[in-house]
Amino acid sequence: MPTKNRNSEQHPDLESVMFTEAQIKKRVRELAREIRKVYGGGEFTIISIINGAVMFTADLMREIDNPVRLDCVRISSYGNRTTSVGTPQIVSSLTIDIARRHVLLIDDILDTGKTITLVSGLIMKLGPASLRTCVLLDKVGRRQVPFDADFVGFKIPDKFVIGYGLDFAERYRNLPCIGVLSPRLQNPPEWA
Ligand code: 5GP
Ligand code: MG
Repeated sequence: MPTKNRNSEQHPDLESVMFTEAQIKKRVRELAREIRKVYGGGEFTIISIINGAVMFTADLMREIDNPVRLDCVRISSYGNRTTSVGTPQIVSSLTIDIARRHVLLIDDILDTGKTITLVSGLIMKLGPASLRTCVLLDKVGRRQVPFDADFVGFKIPDKFVIGYGLDFAERYRNLPCIGVLSPRLQNPPEWA
C-alpha cells in the first residue's frame, strides 16, 4: 500500500505552511541543547501551559535527559476567535510544590505577553529558586506587556497560526506542521 507523505500535502484549511514537521523537530532539538547548556545536568521543573503547549512540551522534554518534574497550568483561551481578548484567567493551577526549585515555564506562543506574565507572577509567588521561560513561537510585534522569553523557537509575524498544539476553536492541534489559518475560516464557520 502506498504511504502518504504527510508533509507533501497541505491541509485545505491552511493558507500556507509556516514550519514543516521536520523544521519544528530540528529547532526543538536545538532548543533542548540550549536549555541543557543553561541547566547543566541539574534537575528542573517544567510547567507547561496547556492545551497549546502539549506537543511542544512532550517533544522538548524527550530531548532533555536532565532529571525533570512536570506540571501543567490551564489558562482560559481565546474561545473561538483569532485575536486575544480580555484578561487571561487561570482555570487550573499547579499541583506540585515548586518552592526552591528551578522552574522552566513553557508556552506555545508569546503574543500580547499577558498569559506568560500572569503565569510567571503566580510561579514567583511560590518562591522558586529560579524561573526561566521557553516559547516555541514569538510574535514580537504584538506585545502589550513587555516580556522576553529566555528560549525562543521561532520569531514569527502577526499571523494566526494553527497546528502542533495550536488550535482554532479547539481544532487543528493535531496537525504535524504549523501553518497560517485560511482567511476563509477566520470568520467562524458554523462548527466554531
Ligand atoms: P498572549 O497572552 O501572549 O496574548 O497569548 C498567548 C496565548 O494566546 C497562547 O498561549 C495561545 O494559546 C494564544 N495565541 C496567541 N497567538 C496565537 C496564534 O497565532 N494561534 C493560536 N492558535 N493561538 C494563539
Ligand atoms: Mg495557549
